[in-house]
Amino acid sequence: MTDRLYYHDSFLYSFDAAVEETGGDARPAVILDRTAFYPTSGGQVFDTGWITAGSQKLRVNEVADAEDGRVVHYLEAPVKDLAPGTRVHGEIDASRRRDHMQQHSGQHVLSAAFVRLFNMPTVSFHMGDDYCSIDLDVSDLDTPNVTKAQVEQAERLANEIILENRPVDVRFVTRDEAGALGLRKVPVADREELRIIDIRDWDLSACGGTHVAQTGQIGCILLRKTEKVRQGWRVEFIAGQRAVATARRDFTTLTESASLFSAHIYDVPQQVRKSLEEIRALRKQREQSLEELAAAQAAALLAETTELNGRKLVVRTFSDRDMSFLKLLAQKLTRLAPNVVVLVATTSPQPSIVFAQSAGQAFDMGALMRETMAKLGGRGGGSKDMAQGGVPGAEGIEAALASVSTGLRG
Ligand SMILES: [Zn+2]
Repeated sequence: MTDRLYYHDSFLYSFDAAVEETGGDARPAVILDRTAFYPTSGGQVFDTGWITAGSQKLRVNEVADAEDGRVVHYLEAPVKDLAPGTRVHGEIDASRRRDHMQQHSGQHVLSAAFVRLFNMPTVSFHMGDDYCSIDLDVSDLDTPNVTKAQVEQAERLANEIILENRPVDVRFVTRDEAGALGLRKVPVADREELRIIDIRDWDLSACGGTHVAQTGQIGCILLRKTEKVRQGWRVEFIAGQRAVATARRDFTTLTESASLFSAHIYDVPQQVRKSLEEIRALRKQREQSLEELAAAQAAALLAETTELNGRKLVVRTFSDRDMSFLKLLAQKLTRLAPNVVVLVATTSPQPSIVFAQSAGQAFDMGALMRETMAKLGGRGGGSKDMAQGGVPGAEGIEAALASVSTGLRG
């Protein structure tokens, strides 16, 4: 069993130890007789840092619990001459540890707030790179959810406990003693001795993690997103410097958005709403204008097309229309008269082709389109009276239309 120095002092960032074992060809690792490095467990993630042995400075990039109760330090590079008994010096990345202590201790304070305020016990805790979260069990409640008002209330109370700077003590007790103390959550592990984290007159939980010494060191806690999850209700939060960094990022994002509207940040939602309404109105107007344009263009095209063999064949290539306009135009044309055949295309923004004929005409537009697409290397098809296709390039479109129209005239 490795002697876990962090059990007794979370602020111990450097220590001396002796090597017990090295190994791992695939992934170099070292086991020490004692360590201040925290291995991932109980939702809190591992420490990183360095182990120095003589002139070797080894980067520790992950720390894990082994099944035999020892702590494994995984190293970035292989080790040389680190025989058992070698004296080494360990150094933990202190800012990473401080961040973890803030998040983890913040979680204790917050979980207790949700229990005291709303009887919502925490069933799991997750610490990520960006944010942390707790899952609350709400199944016993009349309204099994977490409201916005509850989030604000829990956040306020948790921050009050932080501001009161309550002592956070670590105690070791037997299971029987723990039962009498009234823990927020009694662990299922079969250890006889339990490590209790006691936030004065606020929260008692059994936990093996690293915590601050007074709640004031958490700094602050900021609640973010809430969402329903399988096992209850998830509440995302961040504490300490992370909360400040996130608030800073939020402010930067909001400021950038506000400057786009030349507005105050608090007016951004209103400005966005207004813009969306304008976009909706303009889109409607545009659709109507295109409809009118298509109708006018269809009438003009039909008027300038002479009838041949009892049929009016309209052939036209545009340079600045989209597929939906081509279809609209073809629709208008084929409905204006019973004897119209339409071959229209556009070269940009997306080179596209539409073939159509008035209902009852004898050709097969779908088949013609498939033939044309095969020649131009595009994809398309359709029904007997209306077909569409997209091609990779604009070149060849006009020649293809000409060839099809010659075929139809013959
Ligand atoms: Zn803890």
